[in-house]
Amino acid sequence: MQKLQNYINGDLIAPKAQQYLDNYEPATGEVYSLIPDSDSEDVQLAVDAAKAAFPTWSNTPLEERMLIMMRIADGIEKRMDEFVAAESKDNGKPLKLARAVDIPRAVSNFRFYASALQHFASESHAMPGVGINYTLRQAIGVVGCISPWNLPIYLFSWKIAPALAMGNTVVAKPSEVTPYTAYLLSEVCIEAGLPKGVLNIVHGLGGKVGQAIVEHPEIKAISFTGGTETGKRIAATAAPMFKKLSLELGGKNPTVVFADCDFEETVKQVVTASFANQGEICLCGSRIFIERPLYDKFKEAFVERVKALKVGDPNDADSNLGAVVSKQHKEKILSYIQLAKEEGGTVLCGGVETQDFASDNLNTRCKNGYFIQPTVIEGLHYNCRTNQEEIFGPVVTLTPFDTEEEVLMMANSVKYGLASSVWTNDLKRAHRVAEKIEAGIVWINCWLLRDLRTPFGGVKASGVGREGGWEALRFFTEAKNVCIKQ
Ligand code: NAD
Repeated sequence: MQKLQNYINGDLIAPKAQQYLDNYEPATGEVYSLIPDSDSEDVQLAVDAAKAAFPTWSNTPLEERMLIMMRIADGIEKRMDEFVAAESKDNGKPLKLARAVDIPRAVSNFRFYASALQHFASESHAMPGVGINYTLRQAIGVVGCISPWNLPIYLFSWKIAPALAMGNTVVAKPSEVTPYTAYLLSEVCIEAGLPKGVLNIVHGLGGKVGQAIVEHPEIKAISFTGGTETGKRIAATAAPMFKKLSLELGGKNPTVVFADCDFEETVKQVVTASFANQGEICLCGSRIFIERPLYDKFKEAFVERVKALKVGDPNDADSNLGAVVSKQHKEKILSYIQLAKEEGGTVLCGGVETQDFASDNLNTRCKNGYFIQPTVIEGLHYNCRTNQEEIFGPVVTLTPFDTEEEVLMMANSVKYGLASSVWTNDLKRAHRVAEKIEAGIVWINCWLLRDLRTPFGGVKASGVGREGGWEALRFFTEAKNVCIKQ
């Protein structure tokens, strides 16, 4: 069986302790490769390499850095089919989604930050007749990047690219659940001529490798995307060490549908916003609030569309949903469906794993995979656990509302504040609601549309700090003010 390797100091190497973890394919439930079960010794090697590479990389001319990063983007693009297959195989998502979203976005992340680094500007402030201040934004040093399993290479590259662009050297850890595209990225970096030690990828468990990265005194900043509980642990470790922290955490996002929306388009888009990537996108809307006069009509059309979604082998071109990421995650999602029933909810469709219903589009290859039907539930109080806790799967609730004030109260009742969408043709209301929703992003009559230059991140328990555009470039620098007297 293939053994993936760590990428340290420019080489692909085995973990020092020679221990490996099983890598499962969620669509089949079978182990198909092994990943390094690395530990703090491997992290130390990576830090040593990153430290040694820092003086040269941070002083490399911008154009040269840009060209190397462009070559990495080209390298991913050239191996598109391999990346697409690996992202889908590791995560369970349909191949066509990996081809349309994950891999093109990883290419864009490198291209975007490669070009941004050449246009990045820092500030200067004149004090007329007295002096002038200018701001130096200098690379931090060795930084840590830790990412989750839902959009594996998309989110991994979203952190690594700005860190490298600003001249930092990186110790990075992908999720142990979806390591393969990060491994392919190591190969691409070698092919692209990235100098050794500039990027180091250490595979393994969060509690071992992740924790060792966060605790390491030579790693000066941590950019983390993952669950809120993990974020809390990371903050508890890193904050007393005065590390720079960017935490992109969980969500429980509201979708707010007003009666004056474009009906057909809204139903179609809200289905996508609910179930794309099996509902395993932190930005998916999982609580759908519908203005009461439209409630029954919306429910009927929505459920009809959801029932038509095909759950199937990720390799099949007609599968809309693939497998959820792991057995444990499947069980967690099913336990929330059970909880919803106990809390008085009515399951309008779905509610079971695919093995429990007659599915003719799941072939024998997938008979032991982790598939769950897209599930729609109504009749729950906005404040119950099902409506307050992150499920992170293909499960949504429908709730009617009567007034703008009421829907804002319900939308903002959760501890999270990552994303939201509002569906209306009333321009003034759209702006009013957008201003009052507690979330880092509000989509009006759309979902997942975003210019990479915009700030990205959450409020409340969805995180601190912002990624994207200049925000990420600034995060990966230390600002120093130089003041000169005239
Ligand atoms: P997770 O928190 O379990 O793991 C994320 C990463 O952290 C993994 O690489 C893991 O190995 C590592 N990790 C675990 N324990 C650690 C520790 N003690 N120290 C350092 N690293 C540690 O999250 P997950 O299950 O992989 O991902 C799902 C979660 O991610 C969901 O809550 C989802 O909402 C969130 N997410 C958020 C965003 C966002 O932009 N806000 C994007 C995608 C996913």
